[in-house]
Amino acid sequence: MIICPSCSSEIEDGAYVCPICGASLNGELYTITILKTQKNIPWSIPTTYSVSGNGVEESISLPNREGAVFTVPAGVYTVRARYATKKAELTITVDSNVNLSLLLKLSGKLVFEMN
Ligand SMILES: [Zn+2]
Repeated sequence: MIICPSCSSEIEDGAYVCPICGASLNGELYTITILKTQKNIPWSIPTTYSVSGNGVEESISLPNREGAVFTVPAGVYTVRARYATKKAELTITVDSNVNLSLLLKLSGKLVFEMN
């Protein structure tokens, strides 16, 4: 067993992320890459992306088709995107590099999908 440096819980050896508080248990950094994969949508106004959790709070607004890349330690994060009045949200456990697609569904819903 090891002790989480953040919440002092006892955790199984070899865990990358504390199952209690989501804190990173190793020093490695990983990327969360968000891509817009739909070619048929003009994505004509900026999209705001954010990642929060595990002590990280980052937000970026990018124009047009650009996707976003965040670099974070292992942990549990909530990834959000806002495009006009539409919002997408996904909670992910990061213990390796993560690739997400941001899709605008025919129904008008903005969603993340894991690649
Ligand atoms: Zn913890």
